[in-house]
Amino acid sequence: MADLRLVTSWDDSHPVDRRLAALLARHGIAGTFFVPASNREGRPVMAPADLRALAAEGFEIAAHTRDHRRLAGLPRDEVGRQLADGRRRLEDILGAAVTGFAYPGGHPGPHGRQAALAAGFAYARGTEMFRLDPGPDRFLMATTMQFHPHRWAGLARNWLRRGGGFDRFGLAWRLAAAGDLDRGLAALVETGLARGGVFHLWSHGWEIDERDLWPALDRACALLAAAIPPGRRLTVRDLPA
Ligand SMILES: [Zn+2]
Repeated sequence: MADLRLVTSWDDSHPVDRRLAALLARHGIAGTFFVPASNREGRPVMAPADLRALAAEGFEIAAHTRDHRRLAGLPRDEVGRQLADGRRRLEDILGAAVTGFAYPGGHPGPHGRQAALAAGFAYARGTEMFRLDPGPDRFLMATTMQFHPHRWAGLARNWLRRGGGFDRFGLAWRLAAAGDLDRGLAALVETGLARGGVFHLWSHGWEIDERDLWPALDRACALLAAAIPPGRRLTVRDLPA
């Protein structure tokens, strides 16, 4: 069987992420939480004590801008401030270096990638799906699937990002044809086990909660934990470069 690693990442730092972390911990699955210092879209964020608790439990706390600004329309200096301030505030809370970053909405815009480098991050995650590796760009890291019941159009739009490609099409097709999240995840895990690489599952805790995907996520974690042994379940930070 090919060597498959598992990473999971969870955006926006909604307070339900404590519940999400407990679910992951129950299955022995690592997680990276991308945390904006505040959220201008009005969603609450975890308190500093929650972030420190998650870090103490071994989860990675990573940055997601100062107040969840989409970067695409912002001038260069504001992009730089969003990234640098967001990182500094998290480091003040945690008393430890923060090396990971994710672009709000998944799009770096014209300045985001350079700003992530300049702010001293070691990687930046996007939201491109259907890959079984982080992709060629450590500063626009790809994922395998979002834990979200996407319709065909959403899957097709994501596939078309950065040029589509035959290899990614295979995974997109398997996910779309599966019809639901349980079967979709199972199909992609099966492909991952055959090919090896990195299986990167991501989503938002608030979305799991709003759609009541908790039982589905519990089943997904059970499936992933059965397929991928503990030593292969990493935070994004711990993925080999
Ligand atoms: Zn976000």
